[in-house]
Amino acid sequence: MALATAAKTTSTDFGPAVALSCRECGTRFDLGPNFACSECFGPLEIAYEFAPVTRESIAAGPANIWRYRSLLPVPANVLDKPNMAPGWTKLVKADRLARELGLRSLHVKDDSGNPTHSFKDRVVAIAVEAARNFGFHTLSCSSTGNLAGAVTAAAARAGLDACVFIPANLEEAKIVMASVFGGQVVGIDGNYDDVSRFCSELIGDEMGEKWGFVNVNLRPYYAEGSKTLAYEIAEQLGWRLPDQIVIPIASGSQLTKIDKGFGELIKLGLVEDKPYKVFGAQAAGCSPVSAAYRAGHDVIQPVKPDTIAKSLAIGNPADGPYVLDIARRTGGAVEDVTDAQVVDAMRLLARTEGIFAETAGGVVVGVLRKLVENGVLDPEAETVVLNTGDGLKTLDAVSDGARPTAVIRPTLDDFRAAVAG
Ligand SMILES: *Cc1c(COP(=O)(O)O)cnc(C)c1O
Ligand SMILES: [Zn+2]
Repeated sequence: MALATAAKTTSTDFGPAVALSCRECGTRFDLGPNFACSECFGPLEIAYEFAPVTRESIAAGPANIWRYRSLLPVPANVLDKPNMAPGWTKLVKADRLARELGLRSLHVKDDSGNPTHSFKDRVVAIAVEAARNFGFHTLSCSSTGNLAGAVTAAAARAGLDACVFIPANLEEAKIVMASVFGGQVVGIDGNYDDVSRFCSELIGDEMGEKWGFVNVNLRPYYAEGSKTLAYEIAEQLGWRLPDQIVIPIASGSQLTKIDKGFGELIKLGLVEDKPYKVFGAQAAGCSPVSAAYRAGHDVIQPVKPDTIAKSLAIGNPADGPYVLDIARRTGGAVEDVTDAQVVDAMRLLARTEGIFAETAGGVVVGVLRKLVENGVLDPEAETVVLNTGDGLKTLDAVSDGARPTAVIRPTLDDFRAAVAG
């Protein structure tokens, strides 16, 4: 039953995870470092058999993603091992932003509060456990920026080696962030899709038997980390699902797993079964999913990205078709905004809520605004939007005009003349 390419024997402890299951044809495989179905080449995802779980048992856990360990593909003793323990980030009640946009109830799930300042710490934490289970000593990835830093940091904490691949023209802060933890950072002369293709080639050339590529051969495990966003949002709302949620799209993995997480909470009886709408957000300069949504297509036409939202700049998003399914099934939508609108939205969020988002957060807030203006989003319904990264990593986007409002000599006269006059 296991794929012929399975490189390592599997450890027995993946907690409630019981198999890999093909998202296209449903064929099941043993848990292993595999990501594609040998029958139809569809993507593999984790299948579970959950033990009964209660709100109380979860609430008794630590203030990080491991409070949900009974719903994740990780060993029961995950708490005993050194890891980044990300998650349990703030769900900020955004009344001032809501008022400005004409919404009744709005929260921002602020994932810039994670250890390396993006949501990627969640997915990497699960991938590290898979790497340990499979006996990989080197962690690797292809990254649009945030993932590289999350991987090198998690590897440092776990005592693993790291070698990460990034487009060479990334924001300086993201390159520094990836480099500071040690390990190798390889810049590729090309965009993310070139980096990703190169990593697939590396894996085909047997590196896949030696290294754990968190978003390739460990992808089924890695992707499950995004479910914790759904769990936290529901728990922080008082064990309720929001009516509407706006999520950024790079590969689309995060969006599909948030939907999976909401579905699990309903099935497990942890929240009331009620409809919710999932909205996807892209930058106009890399909007293949939004374009397919608008055109009513089921397939994604790859694009060459050109946007300041580099963390979302995947021109050929692997989970794009599943994102379209979810947006249409739930009554949501996929929308995009220009780079100028992204910058405006970053400033709006900062000015109204004191949250300095990276460009990806600007994409989400910009799309939120557009959806409200176009009447696509219900202003009366309870809405949650994600900020998935920290503005300090994309300073260039808002550095125009960022200077002291006054420069004076340290005298009261100067102060009165320039500021309080
Ligand atoms: C990676 C990333 C995302 C979304 O990634 P998916 O590939 O769609 O799961 C969103 N925001 C930021 C800041 C990211 O780094
Ligand atoms: Zn299949």
